Amino acid sequence: MGNYCQKHCGTLQPYVPCCYPSTSEDKRTSYIADSIVISNPMVQPPVNLQPSQPVARAPAQRASLSSKFYVALYDYQARTTEDLSFKAGELLEVINGEDTQHSGWWHARALGSAHRKEGYIPSNFVAPFKSIEAEPWFFRDLKRMDAEKQLLYPGVEAGAFLIRDSETQRGDYSLSVFDGTSVKHYRIKRLDTGEYFVARKKTFLDVTALVEYYKRYQDGLCVRLGQPCEKKEVPEPFGLSYKTQDEWEIDRNSLRLLKKLGSGQFGDVWEGMWNNTTPVAIKTLKPGSMERKDFLREAQIMKKLRHPKLIQLYAVCSLEDPIYIITELMRHGSLQQYLQNDGGESIKVQQQVDMAAQVAAGMAYLESQNYVHRDLAARNVLVGEHNVYKVADFGLTRILKVENENAYEPVADKKLPIKWTAPEALQFNKFSVKSDIWSFGVLLYEIVTYGKMPYVGLTGAQVLQKLEKGYRMPRPPNCPLELYQIMLDCWKKSPEERPTFETLRWQFDDFFEQNESYFDSNTFVG
Ligand code: ATP
Repeated sequence: MGNYCQKHCGTLQPYVPCCYPSTSEDKRTSYIADSIVISNPMVQPPVNLQPSQPVARAPAQRASLSSKFYVALYDYQARTTEDLSFKAGELLEVINGEDTQHSGWWHARALGSAHRKEGYIPSNFVAPFKSIEAEPWFFRDLKRMDAEKQLLYPGVEAGAFLIRDSETQRGDYSLSVFDGTSVKHYRIKRLDTGEYFVARKKTFLDVTALVEYYKRYQDGLCVRLGQPCEKKEVPEPFGLSYKTQDEWEIDRNSLRLLKKLGSGQFGDVWEGMWNNTTPVAIKTLKPGSMERKDFLREAQIMKKLRHPKLIQLYAVCSLEDPIYIITELMRHGSLQQYLQNDGGESIKVQQQVDMAAQVAAGMAYLESQNYVHRDLAARNVLVGEHNVYKVADFGLTRILKVENENAYEPVADKKLPIKWTAPEALQFNKFSVKSDIWSFGVLLYEIVTYGKMPYVGLTGAQVLQKLEKGYRMPRPPNCPLELYQIMLDCWKKSPEERPTFETLRWQFDDFFEQNESYFDSNTFVG
């Protein structure tokens, strides 16, 4: 993406001269108007795809544009002959799907190209035309810390900016901008009449107009707004393709096993390619490691669990042995390995808190679905590009016949990861979201110690005995007191007294949060 115009025309022309003069909203609008040809007479052209006045449009007017027209947020390369490839910024008309059960894939038509191609598109790659989500500078859930760390660091051009939801004031937005030396954050506030401003003397009917204005005039801002930050973190489409949403069982000949990534106690994990187009991870299960009917029952539930911080289960090959489980591929493997490889070289407390926050977010989703993981540990968190961490292997321990392995020791007639499992789950088989919370405390310990074995030197039985007497692992060296307190909260004897994942998630999100309003009132002079 970068400096190329993939927002509007999809060609590799320099961004500014091509079609999106950074100083003129009316020129931008006229470009879009030029490019749209509505082929379906039933669909009326959006009402204001005409050159408009440079200043803002009324919000109500904007909403009316969104109905069937969408803007691509990222590039998408078709994975099957039924899909539609598109470039970020391309305009698409959704023909079918928005309101059907296939909410992950919509049937759409590309309006930008001369060929008028149609096909399925992943619905999480597009946003309604003229909505704030469709703007290249809008990063809804981005945290202030991530804005600074991942997008606006020295090296990017002065004026690089983004707009995100304010963390401290729900409903408000924040503008983060790099002035060449450091990042400044401004609160975008609203008047009672609905207009937006960073300085009360100049108000706007919508945020787009505000951005266009500050691209033209510095007017008190630390720097004139330049290029929006690049959207690096591309989401995963829902499932492999439109078809595999329903056809869960796929032909194993559509898979190529390319490189062995690792082995677990249930089999090997391979990097593979589906349909010659899509990189995937393929878990090959040792014959006899699970009952097929148990697995398919669980898989039905697992495939419905969708969250950006959970590994997506894409498909299965379960008709013959070895059973394959096909999931999203994570480039950096398990968190345990990742932490051990680093050993404190480059991963510091800020990133550790970020890891904890992301895992807590995925687990908060499972909690909201009343789904118990049962095997939360650093070995079951996977690391992707751009510091993305996702929870894997949820629900699998319930159906897998666990064999020998360091982490798993026999309890009654089962093998369990004793050092990660809550006492009430070990003793009375009481697995719950609260026993997952206990495991999360141990995972936090692994994060802080760069993947050390918990309760090192003790057997599972010894650990259980000591825990019963009130023993808890001591604070690891260099572990901030606040993090250790969270571990202790997770290890409270009474499950009810342990926090929820939702609470933990907010605790981690706010961990480094300074008072945002301090910046808002001090950085802006205007
Ligand atoms: P256990 O079997 O005890 O759960 P494990 O989680 O390490 O241990 P597997 O889930 O079989 O075992 O994974 C083995 C290794 O394969 C992992 O440590 C990781 O490095 C790699 N791996 C697993 N899933 C993926 C994936 N989706 N993407 C990339 N690498 C993966």
